[in-house]
Amino acid sequence: MTATLETRMSATQNTTDAEALDRARAAAARVTDPEMPMLTLVDLGVLRDVTIEDDHVVTTITPTYSGCPAMATMRDDLQRELQDAGFPDAEVRVSLTPAWTSDWITEEGRQALKGAGISPPGQAPRHTGPVALTLMPTKRALVCTLCGSANVKLSSEFGPTACKAMYQCDDCLEPFEHVKEI
Ligand SMILES: [Zn+2]
Repeated sequence: MTATLETRMSATQNTTDAEALDRARAAAARVTDPEMPMLTLVDLGVLRDVTIEDDHVVTTITPTYSGCPAMATMRDDLQRELQDAGFPDAEVRVSLTPAWTSDWITEEGRQALKGAGISPPGQAPRHTGPVALTLMPTKRALVCTLCGSANVKLSSEFGPTACKAMYQCDDCLEPFEHVKEI
């Protein structure tokens, strides 16, 4: 038993780093979005990188959009999850370039949204130059998350959170949320 442990302890630094990195990645991948808990930060495309630099874990996240109130919570949750996994000195870096787009939401994430009755975003608009703040509702081709009908109407461009719009199905009357394209 002791011999096995010693053998393991004397493993090369590279192996140890690789194991630590796997553990850190797994821990970071467990963190979910506070506003959409069915999505992990990986599903959301917010978690960009997990590395080990100078013996401490460095994670890089890209905020979904500036001023998103969930961002501070995500950061704290990430730090706490890594601390619980044995990385008390983990660092969370914020990368703003390239800017996050809803296109980064993974296929798993889109399925998880649908499973929770939330309509996933369509393709994000292509921005050339500065992004204009649009106050007019965007026209979207959506289907009802309950019955699949395309006969849906926008009830509010701003749902319970700024990143979601509210729709209602004209056929089955189901109200549902839609994650906006940005
Ligand atoms: Zn419907």
